[in-house]
Order: sequence, then structure tokens, then C-alpha cells
Amino acid sequence: MHKMEELISEKDIAEKVSNMAALISRDFKEQDLTVVSVLKGSFIFTADLVRSINIPLEVAFLAASSYGASTQSSGELKIRYDIDIPVENKTVLLVEDIVDTGLTISRLKDYLYEKGAKCVKICTIFDKPDRRKIQVDVDYCGFVIPNEFVVGYGLDYNNKYRNLKNLCKITI
Ligand code: 5GP
Repeated sequence: MHKMEELISEKDIAEKVSNMAALISRDFKEQDLTVVSVLKGSFIFTADLVRSINIPLEVAFLAASSYGASTQSSGELKIRYDIDIPVENKTVLLVEDIVDTGLTISRLKDYLYEKGAKCVKICTIFDKPDRRKIQVDVDYCGFVIPNEFVVGYGLDYNNKYRNLKNLCKITI
């Protein structure tokens, strides 16, 4: 068993998600919104978020290869599972669990524009700006967190701990 320390409680996460959903509902009111959830980490955040958004929307999922320590910022993004609905001329909300170096999300944003999206906004529940390697405009951010490895609320360590209801720092 790893040593765990709570950083953000279940209650604080729930409150934040409902505030983010209210903002999103207001900002995209007149638009045809497509929520694109980045697997696997954002499945729980996406499920909570979309249920609190009160405008019509569609949901799609995609999975991309994560960058290893040796991966250069010039490396190609590998799509392991692609969205199954068209995004041409759509307003897309890209939903992430955590923005760390920023490489994944900025590549995915470009990818969705290449697929013809009209507008792509970024939404993440957690943000670790200390580790940024590339400038990213995060349009909706839940919590800015310190540079620690975190698990819970969808985030894993070796595929475990995704089911924790709170966000914890894990000491490996
Ligand atoms: P980026 O391209 O921004 O460096 O990578 C973002 C991805 O790295 C996230 O979607 C997530 O899968 C993983 N990641 C970054 N920081 C953490 C962390 O603290 N905990 C976990 N479980 N995954 C992280």
C-alpha cells in the first residue's frame, strides 16, 4: 500500500465541477457543443461535468499515447482511440483530467482543428503549471495544484486508484 495524503476533498471537487458546468452552460448557450473526453483519466470528471451542464451536447472519447520522459516536444501524437462523431464546424470542449507539461492537450487541440472543428476550448479539472513545457490556454480550470504526482478522481498509478473520490498525493 502506498502512502496517501488528501489534497482535495470529494466535496470541494463536487462544488468546483458544478461551478465549472454553470460557466460552460452559460458560455456555450447558443452553440452546438461537442464534449471530447480524453481517456482514460477524464472519464469520471466528464461524467460529473456533463450531468451538470444544462445545454444540449454530444459526447465523444479519444485516447492518445502519453509522452514518456524521453519524448521530445517535436514528437508525434499517437491517437490510440479516435472520436466516433464528426466535429466539422462544431464547437468542441476538450476535457482533460490534468494538464502537466501541456504537450498532450496542445497536440489534441491542433488535431481537432485539423479535423475541421470551428472552435476548441480546453477544460481540465487539475492543472500543474509548474511543469509546463509548452504554453497552453486553459479556458476552464478546476484546481491549480503543486508539482506532485496525484491519484484519484480518475487519475491512476499503474491503473489503480482511479476510483478514489478525492484527489490524493501518492508517495511511491
Ligand atoms: P502532459 O502532456 O500535459 O504532460 O500530460 C498530461 C497527462 O499526463 C495526463 O492526462 C495524465 O494522464 C498524466 N499525468 C500528468 N500528471 C499526472 C499526475 O500527477 N498523476 C497522474 N495519475 N497522471 C498524471
